[in-house]
Amino acid sequence: MTPSRPSTPIRPAPGPSAAPAIRVVVLGSTGSIGVNTLAVIDHLNQGGHGRWRVVGLAAGTNAAALATQSRRYPGAATALADGQTDDPTFLGPDAAWQLVQEVDADLVVSAIVGFGGLRPTAAALARGTRVALANKETLVAGGRWVTGLAAAHGAVIDPIDSEHAAIAQCLAAAAGRTDAVARITLTASGGPFLRADANTLDAATPDAALNHPTWDMGPKITVDSATLMNKTLEVIEAHHLFGLPAEQIDVVVHPQSVVHGFVEFCDGSVLAQLGPPDMRGAIQHALTAPALPARAPGAGPRLNLAALGDLSFEPPDEHRFPALALARRVIAADGTAGATLNGANEAAVHAFLKRQLPFTRIVPLVTAALDALPPKPVTDYDDIAAADADARGWVNQQISAPDPAANT
Ligand code: MG
Repeated sequence: MTPSRPSTPIRPAPGPSAAPAIRVVVLGSTGSIGVNTLAVIDHLNQGGHGRWRVVGLAAGTNAAALATQSRRYPGAATALADGQTDDPTFLGPDAAWQLVQEVDADLVVSAIVGFGGLRPTAAALARGTRVALANKETLVAGGRWVTGLAAAHGAVIDPIDSEHAAIAQCLAAAAGRTDAVARITLTASGGPFLRADANTLDAATPDAALNHPTWDMGPKITVDSATLMNKTLEVIEAHHLFGLPAEQIDVVVHPQSVVHGFVEFCDGSVLAQLGPPDMRGAIQHALTAPALPARAPGAGPRLNLAALGDLSFEPPDEHRFPALALARRVIAADGTAGATLNGANEAAVHAFLKRQLPFTRIVPLVTAALDALPPKPVTDYDDIAAADADARGWVNQQISAPDPAANT
């Protein structure tokens, strides 16, 4: 953009005074989704939609990046879970939760990685605040308790997960008629080990697992993509988000990651959503809906299907990637099963990244945790947190002193 050539908008864009500001809190602001969210906000504001005002930034441990963001968005409250920094508004393990409680916002972008995102996200829903959800663990672990909280307080959850953002866009054609939907399909890239043989999988290192072919994401979700556990979590997320039974949620492997999801209607017609594998598309969709009456110009690359040539689809290999079956099991079990699955997986992935657990033991260990820890009913957050802690404790105990009877 050169100052000597003022750009001419195609049509006059509303100025900041034309519509009220949208106050945004970004949880997980220094992570991959958080950084991209701030980039999309800057893009929207520079494009004449100067409505998005960042009023809160919550980070985990990256104090330096948070301080830089704080200077870029003056006046925003800051939260840091762990670390040293000049002057965060909130500091400590409950910092993000405190920020959500104290700072008035119109939209909370939930992009903390893992179970830690649940409590602050639930706090936003309990305030009736719209949530743009990237933290799928909130719905996997929190399940019906979370959707019930949203319903009770009139809070809307708009997905940032690209597959769910795709499904939401396709479902709009059903105009709320769930009986018109035959099934939804989430696409899976297949991850870095899609064609790997059993020996390669056994010897897979964190470096190999973190080398994702199409998406650029944080380490936890990238390992989840390699085991296909990410798709397991996403099927459970879709079940809670769209209120569909497991039998109506399919997964298909699509290595190009261009078709993000599709909906088959009862008449056999199928609508799909396509876009480059760039999270800014799904983030912008969640940020702008329903704030803008129409779509705003995007910040990311454009799709060129002719240059791409082929799009391919294949069924997932559930023998080599047994994680997928766990989605149906957890949905059927209900209660704390989602929290157990998620907590066990987080502990196992953590151990794999620290080279304490082979790649091919992650999913069997999560399965064994579900066997060992039967689901209990959920009435409040403490039930979920207890199941999460139990699952982590059980997995860590198995890694340090395996119980042969558990057959992990
Ligand atoms: Mg996804």
